[in-house]
Amino acid sequence: MIQINDNDFVAILTGAGISAESGIQTFRSSDGLWENHRVDDVATPEGFHRDPILVWRFYKERYQHSLRAEPNPGHYALVDLENRMKDNFFLITQNVDGLHTKAGSKRMVEMHGRLSTCFCTKCHKNYNLKDIDLQPEIPLCLSCKKHLRPDIVWFGEMPYYMDQIYEAVAKCTIFITVGTSGHVYPAAYFLSMARQKGAKTIGVNLDEPLNSHDMDYFYQGKAGEILPELVDS
Ligand code: NAD
Repeated sequence: MIQINDNDFVAILTGAGISAESGIQTFRSSDGLWENHRVDDVATPEGFHRDPILVWRFYKERYQHSLRAEPNPGHYALVDLENRMKDNFFLITQNVDGLHTKAGSKRMVEMHGRLSTCFCTKCHKNYNLKDIDLQPEIPLCLSCKKHLRPDIVWFGEMPYYMDQIYEAVAKCTIFITVGTSGHVYPAAYFLSMARQKGAKTIGVNLDEPLNSHDMDYFYQGKAGEILPELVDS
């Protein structure tokens, strides 16, 4: 296995696959459906506009499920790596399930938002789901009483933390992508960008991802088995 040295700067991108062993379904691996829903219906602003009740029902279920899920050895291996690398570590996740935070990751950004928060469609005030009444089919802002929406970056919207992400991708010496199919942009582009800047690139995935041609090393298998080995090496 490739060695990670203490003077390396490691940037990591994770996707739905790292949470699969925690019992959370991935997204595209099967047929473009997310938990039996069309992505257009539950992961676009237009879908929310068309049917906010359906979209809220979907994300309330995902939120309840994420509260019951526990991190797996893949998440914990990244915490071990961060503890070793300290400020030479940066984790970018596309996941919204909160499992990296639950495992203890600190130098981490959730570029596609999170299930545990929401914000007002009018005044943009942000809330934690545990602090609001989730009984109404569409929860309402405590200040202006307008509709709240899930704090998820939907297709067609701008991901969060892009400045920090581009900075880390440009300066890393090792870039590792884990459990992501390479379908969703701009995340799928970080790998080739890191490689162009001179980083060694590593992929860990169950199936071969779309962007595997940009990987110097590809380890095929489960993140929960491969990541602990990679970090130990
Ligand atoms: P994806 O579903 O498109 O791809 C998942 C990839 O993980 C697949 O290539 C699959 O082969 C691989 N995989 C499955 N099990 C694995 C395992 N045990 N170990 C390693 N790899 C494994 O996921 P994506 O590329 O992250 O895109 C999905 C988008 O949908 C993301 O942007 C995310 O915001 C959202 N999403 C998030 C979650 C979550 O938070 N857990 C779940 C579903 C979808």
